[in-house]
Amino acid sequence: MVDNGAQNEFADWRWQLARAPRDWPSLAAALRLSPSEIERRQGAAERYPPLATPYYLSLADLDDPDDPIRRQILPDPAEIAPAWTAAADPLGEQDNSPVFGLVHRYPDRALILLNARCAVHCRHCLRKRNWGRELAWSQPRFERALRYLREHQEIREVILSGGDPLLSEDATISRWLRALAGLPRVSSLRIGSRLPVVLPQRFTDEFCAMLGESPGAWLATHFNHPRELTGEAGAACRRLLRAGVPLVNQSVLLKGVNDRAEVLRELGLGLLRIGVKPYYLFHGDPVAGTRHFRTGIRRGLEIMAELRGTVSGLAIPAFAIDLPDGGGKLALTPDSCVGSEGGAPCFKGLGGRVYRYADDDPEPRRQKPEAGG
Ligand code: SF4
Repeated sequence: MVDNGAQNEFADWRWQLARAPRDWPSLAAALRLSPSEIERRQGAAERYPPLATPYYLSLADLDDPDDPIRRQILPDPAEIAPAWTAAADPLGEQDNSPVFGLVHRYPDRALILLNARCAVHCRHCLRKRNWGRELAWSQPRFERALRYLREHQEIREVILSGGDPLLSEDATISRWLRALAGLPRVSSLRIGSRLPVVLPQRFTDEFCAMLGESPGAWLATHFNHPRELTGEAGAACRRLLRAGVPLVNQSVLLKGVNDRAEVLRELGLGLLRIGVKPYYLFHGDPVAGTRHFRTGIRRGLEIMAELRGTVSGLAIPAFAIDLPDGGGKLALTPDSCVGSEGGAPCFKGLGGRVYRYADDDPEPRRQKPEAGG
C-alpha cells in the first residue's frame, strides 16, 4: 500500500533539505558503501564535505560503481591529489570582486553570489572552495552592490548565482528581483540554479509565479545526464515555463558521467522534450579537486564532431571553455585552435590575445588567500 504521508514528505522541498545526508557517515550509509570504500574516500570527504538530497540519491544505482549519479556526489580520493590542490579559483573571481558578493569579470555582465549553500555538493563544482562558508548579506552590503550596478551602466546582464541562489528564502529572492527590475539598463537576468535537477520540489506554482514576475528573467540550470530527466524534473521545468521563465541548460563535460556522444545526444533530446534549450557544454575548468573529471579539450571536440549531423542542431549545446586570466568564455569548434605551446592548445580570447590553455597542467598556479567580505 502506498504511504501518502511519506509521499507528501518526499514532495516537500524543506523535508528534502532537512533529510539530506550532510556528513560522510550518513552519505556512505545511504550509498551502502563497504568499510574499505568508506576508508578510501574518507580524506576527500573531510576536505570537501558531501551533501545530497534524498531525491537525488534516489536516482543513483547503488549496485553500479560507475553510475553517473553516484559519481557526481561521491567523494573521490583523486580530489585531494597533491599536484592539483592549488587552483581553487582559476577564473579569478576573488580578484574581480569590487564589492561584497559581486563579481565583475566581463564588462557587460555582473555576477551576484546570493549565498554559498547548495542542495547537493556536486564533486565537479567550480566553487567547491566556498562549501560551508556563509555569505552574510547585510543591508549596507546589499545597498553597496546595487549602487555598483547602478553606477556601472555598461552592465546589461546580471547573473544570480551562489551556491544555489534559489535556496535563499523567498523574501530574499523577491527583494533582489524587485531591486534588479528597477535597474533600467539591465535587460536580462540569468538565474543559475541546479535545483530543477537535484530538488525539483522547490518549484511550487507560487514560487514559479514569483520568478515569472521578474521581467527578462531566465533560468540556467545544470543537467549533466539523461537519467536526471525524471518526471519530477520535467514537471518543475513545465511549471517554470508556464509562469513565463524560459530555461536553458549548462552541462559540464565530465569523464565517466557524460563523455560520450550518445549520452549527450539523449540528454539534448530529453531537454528539448521538457522545454529546456541545451545552451553550453563546458570543458571542466582547472579547479582544485576536480581534475579526475576533466576529459581534455580534444575529447570534447571529438564528441562535438560526432554529434554534428546525427541530431537536431537545437539539441546541441555550444562546447565552451573559460580562458585563464580573464580571457573570456570561448565557444570551441574543431577549427578554433590557433596553435599550441608546450603541448597545450592556444586560443584567441578577448581583445584578440592568444591564450595558452593548459589541458592538464602539472603545475597549476598557487592558491591565493580567500578575500574577506
Ligand atoms: S549546485 Fe552548483 S554551486 Fe552547488 S555544488 Fe553543484 S555545481 Fe556547485
